[in-house]
Amino acid sequence: RVNLKELLQEIMLNLWTKAEKRNIELRLNSEDRPIVIGDANRLKQVFLNLIDNAIKFSHEDSAIDLIVHEENGKIITQVCDTGIGIDEEHLIRVKDRFFQVNPLNGGTGLGLAITQQIVELHHGNMIMQSKLEEGTTVIVTLPLPKKEDIPGELI
Ligand code: ATP
Ligand code: MG
Repeated sequence: RVNLKELLQEIMLNLWTKAEKRNIELRLNSEDRPIVIGDANRLKQVFLNLIDNAIKFSHEDSAIDLIVHEENGKIITQVCDTGIGIDEEHLIRVKDRFFQVNPLNGGTGLGLAITQQIVELHHGNMIMQSKLEEGTTVIVTLPLPKKEDIPGELI
């Protein structure tokens, strides 16, 4: 059982210095108990990569919004940046292994491929929306645990 709010708070601390250096504010807006069933370390890897990307491709003096809410039996997490964005032609390829719009930015281009796989292993899905020069939003949807998976005191 993983509380996504706590997980995101932990990641915000991990990435604080990196964001702070470029005066990028990380803002969290979450339900109190967004609980999903899964592997905490793997799920951490998912949001570390998405938020790392958001910081990397954002302009200085901007903000990144992390929004977590429950809808139709699912937990929906959005990572929204107002950075450089991705054009349509590249957007369809960003989840491919090793694909990078600009390889000179460093990294391996594996982040999103791994992220996508981990989300799928958790029976969820990941959608990327982006507009060049406007920004990117990544939406990760994960199933809510079934009632029988939650001990009484947590409901
Ligand atoms: P790594 O994750 O291994 O450090 P990476 O970040 O380049 O390397 P991915 O996370 O897979 O690799 O992302 C692939 C590419 O998609 C990036 O290189 C970048 O071109 C584009 N991209 C990903 N997220 C964003 C974003 N939030 N804004 C703009 N471009 C993005
Ligand atoms: Mg990455």
